[in-house]
Amino acid sequence: MTRPSCASPIPLATLLEYWLGELDEAQEGRLDEHLLGCGHCSATLQSLVDIAGEVRAAVRAGAVHSVLSDAFVRRLAAQGLRLREYRAPHNGSVYCTVAPDDDLLITRLDAPLAGVERLDVERLGGGGAVLERLRDVPFDAAAGEVVFTPRMEHIRALPASTVRYRLLAVAPTGERLVGEYTFHHTPYRPGDGR
Ligand SMILES: [Zn+2]
Repeated sequence: MTRPSCASPIPLATLLEYWLGELDEAQEGRLDEHLLGCGHCSATLQSLVDIAGEVRAAVRAGAVHSVLSDAFVRRLAAQGLRLREYRAPHNGSVYCTVAPDDDLLITRLDAPLAGVERLDVERLGGGGAVLERLRDVPFDAAAGEVVFTPRMEHIRALPASTVRYRLLAVAPTGERLVGEYTFHHTPYRPGDGR
C-alpha cells in the first residue's frame, strides 16, 4: 500500500491520544484540520482504529509518553489493553513483577501535591545514582497521585532488582523532595497469577 507523504507527520503517540479523546480542544482542533488535508496521517490514524493490535504495539514500543493521566489509563483499559497496576504509598515500597501477557505496567505514586507547580521524576539505580529525570510531568494534585508507565521492554529485561523513584517539586526558589518510592522487582514466575 502506498501512502501520500506528509512533511510533518503527527507522532503516533499524539494520534493515539487523539483517538482516545485525550487531547484538549485546541489540540484536537489543530489535528482535525491537519487530518482533513493529510492523507498520510489520516491513513495512519485509520490503521490505529482498524487494528487494536497496533495500539498495543505502539504502547509496547514506548510510543506513548511515560507519564499518563488516570483518564488516559482508563481509556487504554477500555480498548482492551491488559494493564497491571501497582500503587506505592507515600515514601513506601512495593513488590512488583510483570507477566508475559501484560501490555502495560501502571505505576501510581501517592504524593501530597497541593501547591506543587512543576513536578520532576527521577529514577535511581540500586546504588543511588540518578539514571533518568523526567521533567515537568503531568500530575493530578487533587487525586494526590502521579501515574506513569515504565517502558515494558526495559521492565521485562530486568533481573531481580530494586528501583527507586523520587518526586521533586520544582519552584523558582529551588526544589524540594515530595516523596521517595522503592520498587522491589522480581522477574515473572509462571503460576504467580495476576
Ligand atoms: Zn500529516
